[in-house]
Amino acid sequence: MRLWIEAPGEDLGKEIYDVAGIFYPQIEVTASPAESELRVRYRETGGEGLLELDGLLSARLTVSVTQTDGPILDRRLRKRRLKMAFYRLLKEHLGVQPPWGALTGIRPTRLVYEKLSEGLTLDLALLRVGEEYDVTPRKVSLMGRVVTVQRNLAQPSEDETDLYIGIPFCESRCRYCSFISAQVGKGTLLQPYVEALKREIRAVTGLVTEKGLKPRAFYMGGGTPTALSAEQLDQVLEAAEPLLCACRETTVEAGRPDSVTRERLSVLKKHGIGRISINPQTIHDATLETIGRRHTHQQTQEAYELARTMGFDRINMDLIAGLPGETPAMFAQTLDWVKACAPESLTVHTLCVKRSSDMHRWQDSLPVAAAVEEMVSMGLDCALSLGMNPYYLYRQKHMAGNLENVGYAMPGRECLYNVDTMEDTLSVLAMGAGGISKRVTGNREMVYRAPNVKEIGQYIQRVDEMSGRKAGLWDT
Ligand code: SF4
Repeated sequence: MRLWIEAPGEDLGKEIYDVAGIFYPQIEVTASPAESELRVRYRETGGEGLLELDGLLSARLTVSVTQTDGPILDRRLRKRRLKMAFYRLLKEHLGVQPPWGALTGIRPTRLVYEKLSEGLTLDLALLRVGEEYDVTPRKVSLMGRVVTVQRNLAQPSEDETDLYIGIPFCESRCRYCSFISAQVGKGTLLQPYVEALKREIRAVTGLVTEKGLKPRAFYMGGGTPTALSAEQLDQVLEAAEPLLCACRETTVEAGRPDSVTRERLSVLKKHGIGRISINPQTIHDATLETIGRRHTHQQTQEAYELARTMGFDRINMDLIAGLPGETPAMFAQTLDWVKACAPESLTVHTLCVKRSSDMHRWQDSLPVAAAVEEMVSMGLDCALSLGMNPYYLYRQKHMAGNLENVGYAMPGRECLYNVDTMEDTLSVLAMGAGGISKRVTGNREMVYRAPNVKEIGQYIQRVDEMSGRKAGLWDT
């Protein structure tokens, strides 16, 4: 749907765009009113705002613009009123109830925590968020479960830090991928990348010592860390050993089953990696082929069995609900297989069709929103039947059915790194191309970020500059 927006200020225009995105997932903003299908104009005069729509929908309504004590609060209230007015109008016109109501943020639980910090009980905080944003009872209940689990986890302290190493390589590119990940190809970039990474790891180790930081959780993601050879993986983990051995939790994503070998898993074992992720996404080979995964279900099965026989007892599996051509019945078959494997944690993603990925070309074969919602709900039932609880959740734009991604885990098997990252509760020192370090301070009220460059060649050349950026976070 092509949308044209006229509003006084980028932030108000963004509210309009975000709300329209709830109802029209494949939205595109156009600069030309003549080329648009829906035109939205918002202007303010005196104490009143006027919202006008034409095209797909014609409407005109006033929005109250209350003056308060300060310009920041004023602006926030105006945005919220405009957002809710536009949301209600589209909801009424289209006759649909979005599962997350008017919520457009990535981390819905943040709102619950805000209410808790105002002194509300959890029940009351959930009730308020549900009412204020028109969130369905099912999603309110999900937030309640997540926050309950999170509050019982070991809480981070300000002198701790998480550690992240990114390996932005994959054997081939999945069609739905929107991450920065280069294909391994002939592998000529791998060793220079590993050398740069080792240099950055040494700098971070020095920083951790100098600032007296305590490593908490280590996470190696990507890309696919196991796209490195066993020797290269060994070199990286060897360099990180002083950090690793101080962490209370260590994770390496062995995401693509075709990259899981006995040699690589032996390296992970040797370095005491406790948690790995082997990601089926689906058990259906035809779907795997469509989405460009370049592995079969048989390979996933073998990778999982190999990891189990080698003693890995914290295995996560990622699934995607809403893949092209898939039905709830097919998703149920995938879940039945997951149940038989009984991993310690499970992450159910909802397919996200970003323009930066190749998937928007499969638009016509994507399951409808109601079918995706059914799959997501089956994912929850499956996790509960395995004794897991939801422990983190996040949302993205352009998600099928406007749903969410949820991480489930058996009690005591939650990944602290995931929670810290999603809730922005702890600093992270991120190494590798595209990694974003952050320092969380001031009773979690201030977050400073220092990104590494994304392009691999640039990262290799400028790795010392990246280390300096990170150190700068602790100079403030
Ligand atoms: S394995 Fe992950 S990072 Fe690699 S191409 Fe597929 S989706 Fe992207």
